[in-house]
Amino acid sequence: MQFSRLRLTGFKSFVDPTDLVISDGLTGVVGPNGCGKSNLLEALRWVMGETRAKAMRGSGMEDVIFAGTSTRPARNFAEVCLTIDNSDRLAPAGFNDSDQLEIVRRITRDVGSAYKANSKDTRARDVQMLFADASTGSTSPALVRQGQISELINAKPRNRRRILEEAAGISGLYQRRHEAELK
Ligand code: ATP
Ligand code: MG
Repeated sequence: MQFSRLRLTGFKSFVDPTDLVISDGLTGVVGPNGCGKSNLLEALRWVMGETRAKAMRGSGMEDVIFAGTSTRPARNFAEVCLTIDNSDRLAPAGFNDSDQLEIVRRITRDVGSAYKANSKDTRARDVQMLFADASTGSTSPALVRQGQISELINAKPRNRRRILEEAAGISGLYQRRHEAELK
């Protein structure tokens, strides 16, 4: 599975539909301070099921919706669509019905978030597990926030173990164990 495209509408500063093609190899996003580079990374994390508003640098999840400027009104919803190349057919059952997998998350003011996988309604948990099992996801060590390196250096061993588990590809199992313990 490989990410091939990220589309945003009304997400943070990306008020107009924005289409980012992710080709093979290295993709660089460059631009002046405040142009939205970190917002793009947050969009990626968000569509993979991030539930912590703080990780999105907001106080509530609706803060990801374009809040308006002096010249443009605020939006009522934000949507992010992640296209995944699934031509190797490695996506798990339920997500594996075509060579392309499109995961869409939309948040509407006063309504909340909804997810779709190839146009079909999907639960947040299933999207989160899809990415956790693929050793990526909203908490993936592959997504490095500003300031995260110094946090890692100062982290307690227990938190560092989480990062190793993620790298070893077992964080999906960790989540399932946690759910089993709750039952
Ligand atoms: P730096 O180089 O300083 O790290 P950056 O390119 O990473 O900058 P971001 O932090 O991604 O920039 O973008 C910040 C911009 O996004 C700010 O101008 C902020 O006002 C805008 N922004 C964040 N949330 C929203 C929102 N909900 N609605 C409108 N604009 C927003
Ligand atoms: Mg930034």
